[in-house]
Amino acid sequence: MPQRSVPWSSVLRVRPIPSGSDKGDRIVLPSSVLPHLLDGDDHHHNNNNNNNDDDDGGSGGAGLSAPPHTPHTTAPYTFELTNEETGRATHAGVLEFSAQEGTVCLPRWMWRSLDVAEDGRIAVRAKQLPKGTWAQLQPLSEQYRHIRDYRAAFEAHLRACHTTLTVGETIAVPYGADVYEFRVRALKPADAIVVVDTDLTVELEGPAQLLSSDDRAREHAAGTGAEEAAPETTLLAVGVPVKDRADIRGRRYYRFVWRKRADMVVRLSVQAGDGDYYVSILDKTPDLLNHTWSNWAGGRERSLHIAARDPAFAENETYFIGVHAFGDKEPFVYTLLVDEHAEAEEEQASTGAASTATYAGEDAEQCARCLAMVPAQAIRLHRGFCERNNVRCEQCGRVTRAGEETDRHWHCRECDECGDIALAEKHRYLMHRLHHCTCGDAYDSAVTLARHRATDCAERLVHCRYCRNLLPRGKLATEPHSRLMGLTEHEAYCGGRTITCAQCQMAVRLHDVKVHMQLHDAAREQRPPPFARCRNDNCTRARADHGPARNVLDLCEACFGPLWSSVDDPDRQKLVMRVARRYHLQLMDGCEKHSCHNEADSRMAAYDVAWLIEALKQCDDDTSKVDTWLRQNAPTPKC
Ligand SMILES: [Zn+2]
Ligand SMILES: [Zn+2]
Ligand SMILES: [Zn+2]
Ligand SMILES: [Zn+2]
Ligand SMILES: [Zn+2]
Ligand SMILES: [Zn+2]
Ligand SMILES: [Zn+2]
Ligand SMILES: [Zn+2]
Repeated sequence: MPQRSVPWSSVLRVRPIPSGSDKGDRIVLPSSVLPHLLDGDDHHHNNNNNNNDDDDGGSGGAGLSAPPHTPHTTAPYTFELTNEETGRATHAGVLEFSAQEGTVCLPRWMWRSLDVAEDGRIAVRAKQLPKGTWAQLQPLSEQYRHIRDYRAAFEAHLRACHTTLTVGETIAVPYGADVYEFRVRALKPADAIVVVDTDLTVELEGPAQLLSSDDRAREHAAGTGAEEAAPETTLLAVGVPVKDRADIRGRRYYRFVWRKRADMVVRLSVQAGDGDYYVSILDKTPDLLNHTWSNWAGGRERSLHIAARDPAFAENETYFIGVHAFGDKEPFVYTLLVDEHAEAEEEQASTGAASTATYAGEDAEQCARCLAMVPAQAIRLHRGFCERNNVRCEQCGRVTRAGEETDRHWHCRECDECGDIALAEKHRYLMHRLHHCTCGDAYDSAVTLARHRATDCAERLVHCRYCRNLLPRGKLATEPHSRLMGLTEHEAYCGGRTITCAQCQMAVRLHDVKVHMQLHDAAREQRPPPFARCRNDNCTRARADHGPARNVLDLCEACFGPLWSSVDDPDRQKLVMRVARRYHLQLMDGCEKHSCHNEADSRMAAYDVAWLIEALKQCDDDTSKVDTWLRQNAPTPKC
């Protein structure tokens, strides 16, 4: 690769970068820089097909985006940033050429590492960096253990946000709802590298090394996946209830391994206080933002049914449960149980409860207060009792016992929800409070937030369909073909890599592997047999297509031999005669070969000739039916 020495450098004033672009190391430069960079390019590559004349004239226009760099032909633009007062330096890639002249927009973390303030002056110098091969990182807290597959998380973050890495800088890797910080300790082949279009090996420093993702996969396959869980989760045994408590605003986490392909139910019985529980496979610490299944219902007995046909259901997987105490008054005391879902039980319980209060006889009368159907002779008695003890809510029609229960009856002012006053606080929190997603979007209830997290949130963790790594979903790809396939930006990148097809040695993009293999399959289905076989089913030789033995019966030379004749036979009458004679002979005497094990041959020879002639007549000379006809109609021959 030819070295590109770009001479451009300048001292610029620091400005903040537009929010949303401050995660990575890409900076915004003034548009006047671009022509200089392109000049530098052209000087060394005359085959570069960027059109310089247009760009030179248009230096005043804002919003020029970075010229697309074709991988393997041109390296991305990289810059060295130096605070000349303190001597601190770092490196950056370029996001856009849209900054005001004389300024440069830097992400906030770069301000800190360069030790500059707004309007401070830094020297920006174009500098080509070598492609990185190896990086050693040091986690700044133990929390990084929460990342299921740190290697994939890094790669995704670097690819999305970074052009360079510099020894000594701290990078913040967002993962799920949290951000994990890592310090760059060492890099190869130099102290500052380009990370675009490279195969970078990422290593973690120190004794607290995580297993590599491959080791984990192996461990998982061996069925010991449960051991990788974070230490603060309690292992639950299926079918064994666990009594536990969570302090005020506290959280407790559990895990269990579900080995059956059957519906499961996660039951929670409340003894005191209130709380919610969330279940997830992907997240070790499920919460409002990161969960797959949840139950926000009130009541003492709650159950969460996870069906085996649920798309997120997985057999032989570790499931995680997060129990969150709600409210400020008392700790949450509960019993948690994971068990197989018994459908019959559930239904019985619900119908049983509904049928207690109604009477369905012909003489039934309805109580005006509680609307219950009561036998006519008992209606007066019931009314007297009902008037004294029951109160019917004008608004919702619900009947409550007079006294405390009626006082505790509550209606939400913003929706139709009603019930015990104890539900009020949680209802307002879940349904009528603005909930913010970590991706920046806001939702007016926990339900819409949960739906957003489960469907279109950019930070939702999904398995890439090509590399199988667990990654934040990110944005959908913009390229039409990828958009049509419903690919995310990462998947579009990941699926764009090529592999060599084992069958045709062609380079195939991962996207296209499925269609490519279907083409191979279709070609295989339509392939003709390698050679035309003799029509005799008991023969494996090739049909005689050439030479003197060539025949209309599609037989091989050997099978046709006995029927061959040197006499000219244009309308094949003689051939038909010879075939008929052989059939007859075979029916009479068998094929007369010692090696023949054809039962029909020898047995048919034992039949009286009169029966054989009759059989041929009855079967319209179809010799394949003769044997059956004889067995059904002729007396068994005595051998
Ligand atoms: Zn009543
Ligand atoms: Zn009511
Ligand atoms: Zn409400
Ligand atoms: Zn979101
Ligand atoms: Zn991937
Ligand atoms: Zn192929
Ligand atoms: Zn043959
Ligand atoms: Zn035979």
